[in-house]
Amino acid sequence: MRVDPADGIVFDIEVPVAVIGAGAAGLVAALAAHEAGAEVLVIERDPVPRGSTALSAGLIPAPGTRWQREAGLGDSPDLFAADIMAKAHDEPDPALVARLAGAVGPALEWLSDRHGLPFSVITDFRYPGHSANRMHGLPSRSGEELVDRLARAVEAAGIPILCEARVDTLYTEAGAIRGFSLVRPDGARERVACGALVLACNGYGGNKALVAQHVPELAGALYFGHEGNQGDALLWGEALGAATRHLSGHQGHGSVAHPHGILITWATVTEGGFQVNGDGRRFSDESRGYSEQAAEVLRQPGGTAVTVFDARIADIARQFEDFRKAESAGAIVEADTIEELAARLHLPEAALAETLAEVEALKRDGGRDGFGRTFADVPALNPPYRAVRVTGALFHTQGGLVVDDDARVLTQGGAPIPNLFAAGGAACGVSGTGPGGYLSGNGLLAAVALGRIAGQAAGAMRFVSP
Ligand SMILES: Cc1cc2nc3c(=O)[nH]c(=O)nc-3n(C[C@H](O)[C@H](O)[C@H](O)COP(=O)(O)OP(=O)(O)OC[C@H]3O[C@@H](n4cnc5c(N)ncnc54)[C@H](O)[C@@H]3O)c2cc1C
Repeated sequence: MRVDPADGIVFDIEVPVAVIGAGAAGLVAALAAHEAGAEVLVIERDPVPRGSTALSAGLIPAPGTRWQREAGLGDSPDLFAADIMAKAHDEPDPALVARLAGAVGPALEWLSDRHGLPFSVITDFRYPGHSANRMHGLPSRSGEELVDRLARAVEAAGIPILCEARVDTLYTEAGAIRGFSLVRPDGARERVACGALVLACNGYGGNKALVAQHVPELAGALYFGHEGNQGDALLWGEALGAATRHLSGHQGHGSVAHPHGILITWATVTEGGFQVNGDGRRFSDESRGYSEQAAEVLRQPGGTAVTVFDARIADIARQFEDFRKAESAGAIVEADTIEELAARLHLPEAALAETLAEVEALKRDGGRDGFGRTFADVPALNPPYRAVRVTGALFHTQGGLVVDDDARVLTQGGAPIPNLFAAGGAACGVSGTGPGGYLSGNGLLAAVALGRIAGQAAGAMRFVSP
């Protein structure tokens, strides 16, 4: 990834607003910039828009929406902002948190009203750390539907999406972005001049060297996000002298079936299950959250653990397609007794039985274990038992380029680069520095809310076109 001076560069075309990346952030930014009156071009390295957005559950947290009101759910941007700050131990920029918490509800209503995305609010399940039911999703509750519907809306608005086009060089002139160069699969190169540029090419989860540098505890971990997210925005930003923040922030997951590579819902743990290592012993307070648990699991011998649960929990988990897939793939081990379960998993029988007895005693008698977990109000496990061998994975990174109120990229000195914007995983999000700061939905929050803000501001710059 390069940043070069624009001197002497001959551009093939000029566009007022260009957006790099056709995930949720880029597509939302494109719609907003177009609505602000600008001509927009979206550039995407893949043959079709997918990104990590397509891999996600597509659930977006938003407070005070009409869907919440219709369902009789009380909520407010202030309450949401307080939840984000509490989860990330007050590390995020409170102004950014307030801006996103206030912007995301109107953004979803706009996507519904103007672009026909049929959102609804989830009322039967609340994600940990949210003090109201505020997750909104499309009918299939899948990120694939989200990115497909956004791409269709972009196409319906007449905005071109140039696919199979990887941007690798930005050109600068007088402290601003003058354009960029993209390369096609056959090696052909095109140079595009632009009035404003939105970086919506996500974080660096797919770049092993950057992960090793910024999130060393997950250096060897499976990456579960989109491979195309190579940290290009971060690398360009660094070359431009942009401010970066919270680069160690990320979302991990300590429950990916191994070796099948299928996400196993964390309900297997929150509903009364627990994790053991190869000695049949627990090793952590699993209730802190699935993100923190990624590194805990990877620290165990072989980088794996076994989640022990029961048939009742399997019934709950089966509502998730991934869990059904894991069952079909033979990842879920079944046994009538704990000894039989241990034998099937090659775990020491006596140790596993002892661990189960300790957990069940805590549920019955109350108290806190040596790791700090309480099992208060957690149902007992009963035979027949279920178990799955899991590993820890990196889902996506949360640190990135520091932006101002208009999603404009700031330099280390705090001045905005006048026509450069960042949204979604390209920008520093609201999850702080550690794995535990990620409140469910922070990823798409930054993609949708900041994407719209970036698009509105970039679109308003159309008169500054080259
Ligand atoms: C398994 C999983 C489950 C998740 N579930 C949720 C959830 O339910 N809710 C939630 O809020 N978040 C969730 N997330 C996180 C969420 O998916 C991301 O935070 C969000 O999709 C980021 O959106 P984005 O538009 O910034 O990036 P992406 O959707 O990844 O889009 C970036 C695009 O940029 C393209 N690109 C990259 N570099 C270049 C380049 N140089 N030139 C051209 N194109 C480029 C990529 O190909 C990609 O298409 C999940 C993530 C994973 C992996």
